[in-house]
Amino acid sequence: MKKEIVNIMNDISSWLRYQKQLGVEGISIGPELSSSFLNHTVQSKASPQELSSTREYRDEIPTETDFVRLRKIVENCERCELYKKRRNTVFGEGPEDAKLVVVGEAPGKEEDIQGRPFVGPSGELLTDMLNAINIFRKDVFITSVIKCRPPRNRTPGHEEIAACFPFLRHQLSLINPSLILALGLVAAQTLLKEKAPLKSLRGRFHQLGNAKVMVIYHPAYLLRLKGSQQLDCKRVAWHDLQILEKEYDKYR
Ligand code: SF4
Repeated sequence: MKKEIVNIMNDISSWLRYQKQLGVEGISIGPELSSSFLNHTVQSKASPQELSSTREYRDEIPTETDFVRLRKIVENCERCELYKKRRNTVFGEGPEDAKLVVVGEAPGKEEDIQGRPFVGPSGELLTDMLNAINIFRKDVFITSVIKCRPPRNRTPGHEEIAACFPFLRHQLSLINPSLILALGLVAAQTLLKEKAPLKSLRGRFHQLGNAKVMVIYHPAYLLRLKGSQQLDCKRVAWHDLQILEKEYDKYR
């Protein structure tokens, strides 16, 4: 019983730290927090092998392609129109044997300038979110579905995703992570080959090959929200992050 209380206190402490990092000054406790955490796994409709054979995602990368070669291919890629306006491709960064891979949607303005993933405001929030569950950027590989910035940060189109997804798929096959954190709807639907809305995909693990995939709200989306809606979604994201933390602890 004493251990349970200590665990609860630790959870509350982490949550308060996260809220403080996000600049939240007041909190309300909703049903999401008071309910026990869900921790069941859902089988995705598509394994990486199935995705490989899906015509939707074309142009397979040769299996012998290593990280150095893959990075070069991406740097010179002209598979879709997005190459025309990019300043830099954003391949991703982190340990090539990371246990956790974080997958976003596409580079934004700052990422395009620096050629690095999640270095703008949503990157700061992502870093805070990970730190709040004792996961640090240096230990995870961070990348995105699309490697070039879409103009005005618009949502990438189906053709662009189809053209670029083989790079992400190959990155995942090289890293072979135990866990994948999908940020937002584009990453979730692309990885899981699902059309369901984010709220029905989040909050539980989906199996994709060897990896368990957790879906959460994209930090950029959380930043765009205001008032109680923002607070509600942050609370939901925190709930999902805590499920991830419990699973990640097995691989530390
Ligand atoms: S977004 Fe992807 S597929 Fe399109 S040009 Fe950039 S690297 Fe190539």
